[in-house]
Amino acid sequence: MTIKTSFNCILISLLLISCSEKQKEPEKKQNTTNFIIIFADDLGYGDLGVYGHPTIKTPNLDRMANEGQKWTNFYAGASVCTPSRAALLTGRLPVRSGMASGKHRVLFPDSKNGLPAREITLAEQLKKVGYRTAAIGKWHLGHKEQYLPTNHGFDYYFGIPYSNDMDMVSGLIPYWDYWQQPNDSIKTEHFNVPLFRNTKIIERPANQNTITTRYSDEAVSYIKQNKDKPFFVYLAHNLPHIPLFVSDEFKGTSERGLYGDVLEEIDNGVGKILKTLEDEGLAENTIVVFTSDNGPWLPFKLNGGSAGLLRAGKGSTWEGGMREPGIFWSPGQIKPGVVSDLGSTMDLFATFSKIAGISLPEDRILDSHDLSPTLFDKAANTRKSILYYRGTEIYAARVGDFKAHYITQGVYGQFGEKIEHETPILYNLNQDPSEQFDIAEEHPEILQQIQDAVAKHNSKLVRGEDQLADRE
Ligand code: MG
Repeated sequence: MTIKTSFNCILISLLLISCSEKQKEPEKKQNTTNFIIIFADDLGYGDLGVYGHPTIKTPNLDRMANEGQKWTNFYAGASVCTPSRAALLTGRLPVRSGMASGKHRVLFPDSKNGLPAREITLAEQLKKVGYRTAAIGKWHLGHKEQYLPTNHGFDYYFGIPYSNDMDMVSGLIPYWDYWQQPNDSIKTEHFNVPLFRNTKIIERPANQNTITTRYSDEAVSYIKQNKDKPFFVYLAHNLPHIPLFVSDEFKGTSERGLYGDVLEEIDNGVGKILKTLEDEGLAENTIVVFTSDNGPWLPFKLNGGSAGLLRAGKGSTWEGGMREPGIFWSPGQIKPGVVSDLGSTMDLFATFSKIAGISLPEDRILDSHDLSPTLFDKAANTRKSILYYRGTEIYAARVGDFKAHYITQGVYGQFGEKIEHETPILYNLNQDPSEQFDIAEEHPEILQQIQDAVAKHNSKLVRGEDQLADRE
């Protein structure tokens, strides 16, 4: 070997060392898995770039979907806020906890009750093995102290405890007329909603112009403060539920208009959270999930979202009311791809419990399936059906590819006629996701199969006492 060759070898070796040092993975801080749920409000199936929106730009959510799993048959537990949130956090249909009602569809600022203490939330479940837990954002499971997140398993709460269109200042009503004016006339001070830190109101009215970025920043600082312990962050944005507000930085940036500006601000927060996880060496042992509580609120036209190719929206049991984007991200843990298996926000309870090694409660019926075989190995999971409740009544049921509608009705705010179908309407959702072509006549055996599944569910159903009915 000549001196020159030897020198080149040393040089190459040095370059390789420096190269491998640069590529070295950040050191893992923990062995357990952290969980982050980012939950949007009234965001539709068609509102993200990666789910086909032509002008709303969501590069961070698109990246999460491309590096992780994008689910195309993922459902919220109900088609409006309160029951949907109860479903996610308890892993149970809201009819069981009493968080669904035939009288009111959600909780209001004068509601007397909230999520009963006997329910076990995902936060309480994870606390059994020492997780640190934070709820940031919209709660909507009871605003009185005993119902707040800090009394339901969360160590920390920062957020508006119900919808951002509530507590409308008197003199501005009637409610629906208010929304006919141009967006620049709609002011954050018109909604006297409180902002809580733990159990104390720290700002009222909450400044909604900056709330989206403040929520994301709270999540980032909670992650940094708790990076040495396992943590669970439930980040439930108040937006893009109306009224729509954005920080100055995002105003007028989206081709989609104000609704797009709002989504791009949410997406920017997602980017900050992913970057924090990567910078802190936590990306590979943190699972981040993004989804929404229900479909778009269609009567608000341009200020509401889009369910894409799905029919109808918020409040209805058509697909647009309950099928949502479902994105799972954890580089190295989650096998990337598009998943068309059935999934539900209620499944996060059993899935996270399984991953964290916590046994499920045995003293109650759960509606939660462990999705980890699909997340980690693209293997089949046990969920084969979806029930579509409106309040306390089953309007529709899906088993496998097929969905039967027993009752149909309009979206929230445009209720329309309630139609009970003597012969249920039947769709093959894999072939006809827009629910256009009724095939009930050709497939009585499938209708019977779905009816049997509903009857089996009903035979074991114990209805929780209605928590939404009583108001001051
Ligand atoms: Mg909602």
